[in-house]
Amino acid sequence: MTLSVDVAANLRAVKDTLPEGVRLVAVSKFHPAEYVMAAYDAGQRVFGESHEQELSKKYEALPKDIEWHFIGHLQTNKVKYIAPYISMIDAVDSMKLLKEINKQAAKHDRRIDVLLELHIAEEATKYGFTPDACREMLEAGEWRELENVRIRGLMMMASNTDDEAQIKSEFDEAAALFDEIKSKYFAGDDMFNERSWGMSGDYKIACKCRSTMVRVGTAIFGERTY
Ligand SMILES: *Cc1c(COP(=O)(O)O)cnc(C)c1O
Repeated sequence: MTLSVDVAANLRAVKDTLPEGVRLVAVSKFHPAEYVMAAYDAGQRVFGESHEQELSKKYEALPKDIEWHFIGHLQTNKVKYIAPYISMIDAVDSMKLLKEINKQAAKHDRRIDVLLELHIAEEATKYGFTPDACREMLEAGEWRELENVRIRGLMMMASNTDDEAQIKSEFDEAAALFDEIKSKYFAGDDMFNERSWGMSGDYKIACKCRSTMVRVGTAIFGERTY
């Protein structure tokens, strides 16, 4: 199958712009498995998907050394399907979801890495903890009892705008909150070290705002058709 997009060249172009220490999640949602394989053959191993059924199909069909990230809003009743194999759940936006991940991870004798999703952007539709809700959740402390999840850091999406100053200020706010949370709750925990921000339109800004993990789809695989 000849793809209409030069995935390998795009992947290289994105990777060439990432500073050392910033990892790439290649967001393959809505693109067929052939696109994933083109990136895989070019050396990429970390991929992001946002729908459980699509992910499950790709997981079955594709090489087992792929690290799958679930990057979208995850319904609690879908956790059980991905719990056996998911590498990271990037967008935990409620205590209820965190508990369900813990429960399903325990069934598979796993500890699942997660990120807490922040809601900082202006869009009303986006999921995630507001900074205050995130502080309250951590302060309440119940998360400490969840032995089968490991909170690895924070994730967020900036507002969908051309205003670079605004995007930068949102990333900076997330980075400051990361420092606050790290010092208060994870000071001795080297594994709380991920700041996942930056997508195709803003990952270069995100890299200047201390991102450790960008999630890039369109710039690698082309436009999605929904
Ligand atoms: C789709 C998606 C991305 C990738 O977006 P692009 O603009 O295609 O790079 C990143 N993060 C999340 C949470 C997404 O849903």
